[in-house]
Amino acid sequence: MNDYLVKALAFDDCVRIYAVSSTEALNTIGKRLNYYPSALAAVGRVMNVTVMMGSMLKLEETITVKVDGDGPIGLIMADSDAHGNVRAYCENPHCHFEYVDNNKLNVKATVGQSGFISVIKDLKLKEPFIGSIPIINGELGEDFAYYFSVSEQVPSAVALGVLVNEENVAVSSGGFIVQLLPNTPDLVIDLLEARIKELPPISQMLADGMTPTDIVKEIAGESVKILETVPVTFKCKCSKERFERGLISLGREELDDIIEKDGHAHTVCHFCGNEYDFSKEELIDLAKKSK
Ligand SMILES: [Zn+2]
Repeated sequence: MNDYLVKALAFDDCVRIYAVSSTEALNTIGKRLNYYPSALAAVGRVMNVTVMMGSMLKLEETITVKVDGDGPIGLIMADSDAHGNVRAYCENPHCHFEYVDNNKLNVKATVGQSGFISVIKDLKLKEPFIGSIPIINGELGEDFAYYFSVSEQVPSAVALGVLVNEENVAVSSGGFIVQLLPNTPDLVIDLLEARIKELPPISQMLADGMTPTDIVKEIAGESVKILETVPVTFKCKCSKERFERGLISLGREELDDIIEKDGHAHTVCHFCGNEYDFSKEELIDLAKKSK
């Protein structure tokens, strides 16, 4: 089990820690949809924070995270649940930026430095919970720390990272979230701040072979109580039926137009790359169901 997440408590239950590794899940989409490196890194970071936030949910609850910056990648979206199932998508996987001085992936330039991050939680109540913050940095770790402190009033440190090799394959992808519960002693806060500052980048720790469990222990030492480990899996909800509904919603006129001009329809899921083809006969059937 390489891709998994850990939930833990530390320092006499004053601190909550989540850590995740999602390299295989990210490469599933990276390969299928031919992601460029910095786009892969940006989507991986969103995927990591989303699956950790999913693990804060209960049973049937779900979460959708949207990062809508003014950078060339366009909208990034990920959704997850309480069981480690996650998927992610971006509008333009074919963009790539590096920092000039060190050739590191420039996520900030990919995502953009203004725009909005929205978090939609379906808590199976009448209305979903929606939290929204402006993008303040664009590298995303700091942005989500800001989200937690402003939207959920939980002081948090968030690290997200993806390392990509020359073949455009993620060598590591992961993250951690450290959250302070009310009444965390100042001494613990100071200690944690110092430890987190000294840590190597999360992508480096994972590439060096550390597991999410190792990373949680590295952050909080002997005080850690592991509560749960959950396998992380890329899981798409798409199906031919979903695309059928999409085609029907185009309306009769547009469908008749497709039937006449193309004689078939080829659709691709932007989350997972699965392809669904519709023959002329199928389209005629759908047009009959359409208004
Ligand atoms: Zn799909």
